[in-house]
Amino acid sequence: MARTVIRHATLFCGTGAAPLSGDIVVEGERIVSVGSTAQVRPDDIVIDATGLFCMPGMTEGHAHLSFENVCATEDLITPCAETQVFTAARGAKALIDAGFTSAYGASEAKLKLAVAVRDEVNAGRLPGPRIRAGGLEISVTGAMGDESRLHNPRVGPSTIVDGVEEMRKAVRLHCREGVDNVKLDVSGDPFYPNTPAHVTPMTFEEIRVAAETAHAYGRRINAHTRSIEGSKRCVRAGVDGLFHTEYSDEELLDLMEEARDRIFVVPTIGLFAQIMAGEASAHGLTPEVGGYMNIPELLENSIHTHTELRKRGIRHLIGGDYGFGWSKQGTQGRDLEFFVDHFGYSTTEALLCATRNGGQAMGYDDLGTLEPGNLADLILIDGDPLTDIAVLAGPEKVVFVMKGGAIHKSTLPIPARGLSPVLQAAE
Ligand SMILES: [Zn+2]
Repeated sequence: MARTVIRHATLFCGTGAAPLSGDIVVEGERIVSVGSTAQVRPDDIVIDATGLFCMPGMTEGHAHLSFENVCATEDLITPCAETQVFTAARGAKALIDAGFTSAYGASEAKLKLAVAVRDEVNAGRLPGPRIRAGGLEISVTGAMGDESRLHNPRVGPSTIVDGVEEMRKAVRLHCREGVDNVKLDVSGDPFYPNTPAHVTPMTFEEIRVAAETAHAYGRRINAHTRSIEGSKRCVRAGVDGLFHTEYSDEELLDLMEEARDRIFVVPTIGLFAQIMAGEASAHGLTPEVGGYMNIPELLENSIHTHTELRKRGIRHLIGGDYGFGWSKQGTQGRDLEFFVDHFGYSTTEALLCATRNGGQAMGYDDLGTLEPGNLADLILIDGDPLTDIAVLAGPEKVVFVMKGGAIHKSTLPIPARGLSPVLQAAE
């Protein structure tokens, strides 16, 4: 079987151990050895990674593949699915180009966009990460995602249900259509004045039935939840992934800590941090407008809650809510810096959120760390994220990307087979 030997890199294995320097050998889709000096065979592909940082590929923890330059809900509603499938394909490519070899889906502009792209990627016909496909967000009448009014009926990027039977049917339909990750809109949201972030329109019974149904089909269930009551209902109802989770009290923090081996939490702090830093001002979302939307308070609560959750050993994931006019797909690595600056993570711990925790959320037990036997999803960085985490803020410093043993991207010279002349001289 074809082998790839990456030599002389600094190896960050994502296991919590200190980085080592050495070689990593990949055979087929898996890692064979890590750290020891490789015995190079004549038909190996050998890559000289001297001076480069090797780490597991990252996971985007709340992917909206079909979001590109979105400035209003209108941008998700107006284009047709035929157009948006190209958008989602571009989103997938932008992610893997930036070192994200996995994407844990949130929701999409249309039901099957991520399903279609996932299937094409898996068939090897499109470039992209491993994808757990999200579908539409599932919400209730009058809450986030319900764009309709009596005088102006229209369909948003959502399915609107009321009561447990409609919920069960909607989740079953998502499962039938191939969605891996079902997403509920449990709490309100600052972009929906009818239902601000601290309210909880979805009932416990609706959430519980959704979770039970998704699990019956072997799928994951995730929730948009900013309110304290919403997050409590989610943990108690068996939700797997909690998105945002800004507001908390002691009871909620305790509940989440008790469930920490079962749940994943995605703060999606990038969106609000960018708005308050003025990065969305050109699109009308100035810090002043953010103030009217109560975003400073949400940000303050996010910092408090997620700092607490970090201390309690919660499995955080990076990413989420990129693809807006001010936040390109492929810049999700910026979250690493937000995790360090706002939640008190060390650079090492932030990288573990992006790699090890991501692999676990994707549903694999052999992904997200560089260990013999694991799937060979790895990236090479021209820089050291442990001293400068910002090198992962975009695709520029990601010089090599491998997914499942296949080289997706390389700006390095790769000899067809065997040692490059430089390495031969050094042997
Ligand atoms: Zn989102």
